[in-house]
Amino acid sequence: MPKFEYAPAPESRSIVSLRESYGLFINGEFGPGVDGRAFKTISPATEEVLAEVTEAGPADVDRAVTAARKAYEHTWSAMPGRERAKYLFRIARIIQERARELAVLESLDNGKPIRESRDVDIPLVAAHFFYHAGWADKLEYAGYGPAPRPLGVAGQVIPWNFPLLMLAWKIAPALACGNTVVLKPAETTPLTALAFAEICQQADLPPGVVNIVTGAGETGRALVEHPGIDKVAFTGSTEVGKQIARACAPTRKKVTLELGGKAANVVFEDAPVDQAVEGIVNGIFFNQGHVCCAGSRLLVQESVYSDVLASLRRRLATLRLGDPLDKNTDVGAINSAAQLAKIRELSEVGEAEGAERWSPPCELPVKGFWFPPTIFTGVSQAHRIAREEIFGPVLSVLTFRTPAEAVEKANNTPYGLSAGVWTEKGSLILWMASRLRAGVVWANTFNKFDPASPFGGYKESGYGREGGRHGLEAYLDV
Ligand code: NAD
Repeated sequence: MPKFEYAPAPESRSIVSLRESYGLFINGEFGPGVDGRAFKTISPATEEVLAEVTEAGPADVDRAVTAARKAYEHTWSAMPGRERAKYLFRIARIIQERARELAVLESLDNGKPIRESRDVDIPLVAAHFFYHAGWADKLEYAGYGPAPRPLGVAGQVIPWNFPLLMLAWKIAPALACGNTVVLKPAETTPLTALAFAEICQQADLPPGVVNIVTGAGETGRALVEHPGIDKVAFTGSTEVGKQIARACAPTRKKVTLELGGKAANVVFEDAPVDQAVEGIVNGIFFNQGHVCCAGSRLLVQESVYSDVLASLRRRLATLRLGDPLDKNTDVGAINSAAQLAKIRELSEVGEAEGAERWSPPCELPVKGFWFPPTIFTGVSQAHRIAREEIFGPVLSVLTFRTPAEAVEKANNTPYGLSAGVWTEKGSLILWMASRLRAGVVWANTFNKFDPASPFGGYKESGYGREGGRHGLEAYLDV
């Protein structure tokens, strides 16, 4: 099938006004770090330096926790829920007003296509604040008793794949329940969190209710290990999640962990092939595969294997890779040089272990971090590419004959975050859903999110739920 040539349609970046350098957002104000350290954040698509960002040390984290404690005790926890709701509604509306700016900023700093940041990330960010604003004055109806209490100060650490969306998943429920927060964004994508700090100022949020400290792993560690916090919420790798669980085990801190995944996307022989192929593509190439719940293992029923593979290859050849700010782009840049190295390494291991690698013809830009959409066939369950999270645009294809075999293979992983099932039979969907050990099971769709729907994992994908009524529990003393 010929690929249409599209004229470039770049979104203008003039709507974003970047500062040369950013301080820490503590007690409602931006200010310098105590020891004056800073790092640069770059555009992964061009390697251009976007801004310099302050690296918070332990003394800064301590100042942020102290500000959050003061705001918790004197302002936020004492405020009636309906008053807290007003602030959350205000934040949600400002996010909508500034949506285009936030989408451009997210694509610049993260490398994801503007089509995704504009149509998925930012609308979901606003939706999370609207949804939780609605809960703030109705917590007594959430099923946690007549007057559920907040926990106190939450220390929150988030990854780089959905920077502003992960912030919303953390901050919206925390504030709705009456907690105050200190949040650390990922070191490669701090800019939308800093824009959010400005939004807090714009919304007149009382000082100290939200504090943003930037930095890398050491800053995150100082935060989660700080004795002054009551609750730790972490999204990131399973390895770091385990370290945090160990560090918090001897303390009274309540912990929720959203970690890695290796989801199976299971296609049965009666599934409509074109629809399933769209779901497979969305499952693994959305956000360059930097998705914890990505459908990175495709399980296809043997009888339709060659049809599905042929359609999938045809569809992959039409994906456009390139400038994240171009509205026609389907696949953007890999977020960092380190992540690109990890994807390359595991792909090489896949080949060395005997799987067959395929990518459509695809020209990669010279500057920046890029990896073509890639499929591995002939994959066995023992291969590392079938077991380890690649966190990139790489799909491992396996086959099965019976539903029981599909369940066994799908569950043969240390993770348990999500799964997909493609079939026309409702009974088979229910049969599969009750047997798949995954926090979310999508039926005839993939990567669908809604603030009312709880999200979280089994096994090494972590514990606790975010979103929906269940997600409130993580921020209430119940
Ligand atoms: P990462 O664990 O290295 O980093 C995540 C965050 O933790 C970053 O902000 C980082 O600075 C911080 N951090 C690093 N070391 C720390 C430490 N010792 N103590 C406290 N904080 C520390 O992960 P990453 O490479 O940034 O993100 C990719 C991983 O995140 C993938 O494995 C992915 O599956 C997972 N993830 C999970 C979900 C989910 O909801 N389950 C969502 C997104 C990403």
